[in-house]
Amino acid sequence: MSTGFRAYARYQALATASQRSVPKNKARQNSTVNSELFGCHTFNYTQMAKMLPASDVKLLKNHPVSGKVITQEVAHRVALAVKQWAVEKGATHYTHWFQPQTESTAEKHDAFLDFNDEGLPIEKLNGKLLICQEPDASSFPSGGQRTTFEARGYTIWDASSFMFLNETKYGKTLTIPSLFISYNGEPLDNKTPLLRSIRALNKQAMVALDLLGEPTSYVQVNCGPEQEFFVIDSALYHLRPDLQLAGKTVLGAPSHKGQQLDDHYFGTINTRVINMMMEVEAELITLGVPVKTRHNEVAPSQYEMAPIYEGANMATDHNRLLMAVLKKVSRRHNLTVLFHEKPFNGLNGSGKHLNWSLSSSQGVNLLDPGDSLEENLRFLYFLTASLRAVHDHGDLLRAAVAVPGNDFRMGANEAPPGIMSVFLGHTLSKVVNDLVDGAKEKSINHFGAQDTINLDIVKIPSINKDNTDRNRTSPFAFTGNKFEFRALGSSQSISTPITYLNTGVTASLEKMNGELKALLDQGKSLQGSLLAVIVQNLSKSKAIHFDGDSYSDEWKKEAENRNLPHLKTTPQALAKIIEPNNMALFKKYGIMGSDEEILARQSIAMERYVMLRMIELKSAHELLTTYVFPAASEYLKQLASAVNKTTQAIGSVPNAQKDYLLRYSELTGELATKMTALAKTIEQISELEESGNLVKTANYIVEYGMTAHDEAREVADKLETMIDDSLWPLPRYRELLFVN
Ligand code: ADP
Ligand code: MG
Repeated sequence: MSTGFRAYARYQALATASQRSVPKNKARQNSTVNSELFGCHTFNYTQMAKMLPASDVKLLKNHPVSGKVITQEVAHRVALAVKQWAVEKGATHYTHWFQPQTESTAEKHDAFLDFNDEGLPIEKLNGKLLICQEPDASSFPSGGQRTTFEARGYTIWDASSFMFLNETKYGKTLTIPSLFISYNGEPLDNKTPLLRSIRALNKQAMVALDLLGEPTSYVQVNCGPEQEFFVIDSALYHLRPDLQLAGKTVLGAPSHKGQQLDDHYFGTINTRVINMMMEVEAELITLGVPVKTRHNEVAPSQYEMAPIYEGANMATDHNRLLMAVLKKVSRRHNLTVLFHEKPFNGLNGSGKHLNWSLSSSQGVNLLDPGDSLEENLRFLYFLTASLRAVHDHGDLLRAAVAVPGNDFRMGANEAPPGIMSVFLGHTLSKVVNDLVDGAKEKSINHFGAQDTINLDIVKIPSINKDNTDRNRTSPFAFTGNKFEFRALGSSQSISTPITYLNTGVTASLEKMNGELKALLDQGKSLQGSLLAVIVQNLSKSKAIHFDGDSYSDEWKKEAENRNLPHLKTTPQALAKIIEPNNMALFKKYGIMGSDEEILARQSIAMERYVMLRMIELKSAHELLTTYVFPAASEYLKQLASAVNKTTQAIGSVPNAQKDYLLRYSELTGELATKMTALAKTIEQISELEESGNLVKTANYIVEYGMTAHDEAREVADKLETMIDDSLWPLPRYRELLFVN
């Protein structure tokens, strides 16, 4: 096949992409009113109330925080009801839907079809089948937790998230959110630790509210994840093996027009994309995902969607659904959605901002400053616990966002570095500093907690969201009545970041609750004691408080002076999970049950790092060898022949052309050298990988693999700007980003 053939395919794809029409509207066929459609494909509390005894609905409603056992009888009633509902809506199959440690979801479908005692066909789902499925699923990563002979895994119905109908063109499947555990009962998924962390935090937050004299029946963790992604035309996507395999471009010269004009951010949404988003939203609304916001992001072809916040467990399932529905529906529109953290060099990558807060059963946001002294003290107490969590467990929060794609983003000029710090904003910083300094000046013996303490300093002027949201560079920012954890990668599940954050806050709340209780037991006043505990803990977490530019080099130096860990790469961050104090923390709150489980989880994540990087490196090597080098050689041949023929024709050597040929020829030679070097590095990594030393392999990739790739890519990207366009075999950045 001649080299120019691929360029021809590229031109054809460009023609196809530029002539696309929007497919026939399928969205909103039944209604255009969101509030009418909302949740109609979920077995939600309204639906349950129509079909189940009130006591069952109450039990299920309380389940997210109570974690109370759901009896076989209740499960059976739910199973019969949900089967009837699903079959009436057109479902033929059901599946448990779970979240193994692959940062994605998994499912195995079964038909409702069965035979009764008389041998007649029926639709069947009973309590036992609802509660537990044995998908076998022996191929999911377990980090050695399961040996082959007992490799069976079980999925268990997660009654704290709604069942829903997954619809495709030819039918519907009842989808049952589930947990995934091993034969021995150890969790193998990311949802079980999340649920445990929600319950642990609920417990300590309730203790706190009891001490504060504001008892509540539960404390809910609320999350609203803002999801960023790229959208490109499918015809062009299919001509890029790197996007298909690695989710990112492993080479590609920058487009002269990128994001420098700031003309994409909040611009008018591209017609094809907005129609696709509207269909996505319509489907999500029926699935009870409260999608609210959509807008253009900074880079060309980059967008964001965000839902209204919900309980952390539901929010986690819904973020996965949002991603899945985007993937599914975009195909119908001949568009491809990219969730990779850095699909294109030189442009902003995609992250996920996790908005997080706590509320009481009475609906009071515990991170909302109020008007009264009591409300302000409560607010400061929970704020302080969150700050203390970031201070004491910053390394874990960094590890929570350690997914391989994020390394290309963090610390660049678009996402915070691997240093965990908190932005409080002008108003709140002043309050916090006044509290800490005021206490110092007046040399208050914190734990003496005199009743004469000046409570005036607790007065908090109302905090305007706009006041607090100006700094987009902080990994963890207070934004008026919630925290925004901004370091998440766009592809990752939000379950682990929430789990680690919840665990950290649980630990600091328990510590603070203990201190507060001790003071109260000594007969000190509630307000004086609260203030003492707040001041004491704020002082201890001062080092992570930073309102300046987190992207700057000065901050990196300053953070070093403050002894804050700076974890630049995924392997470095993952190493923190298995440090003894962190393992002890997870075990103490029952988030993970044993050392073996924690070690297994860490090793699965490390293995994923190695495997994903190897896919990138091998894709890069293959594209360089089989796409770029042949095109480069062909053009070299053409240039050389042109110089030869010109020399013959004009009777002397055309010096300028010859110089150009020389430079170009050298560059082509350099490509060959770098390609070979990359191949050698890949071989060395493979050898290390086979030796079974994961950490060593990961570190070798960080140190040598990435450089070998970067160096080879640099040459290829230069060549891309020199080679005849009619020979260039891959869709270029400008084509991927601007043709749709
Ligand atoms: P911005 O881009 O200005 O940060 P967005 O409107 O894009 O804001 O997203 C904000 C997200 O924060 C939404 O998902 C929203 O529901 C969520 N959110 C708002 N208040 C809270 C809260 N108290 N707790 C958790 N999430 C919240
Ligand atoms: Mg936003």
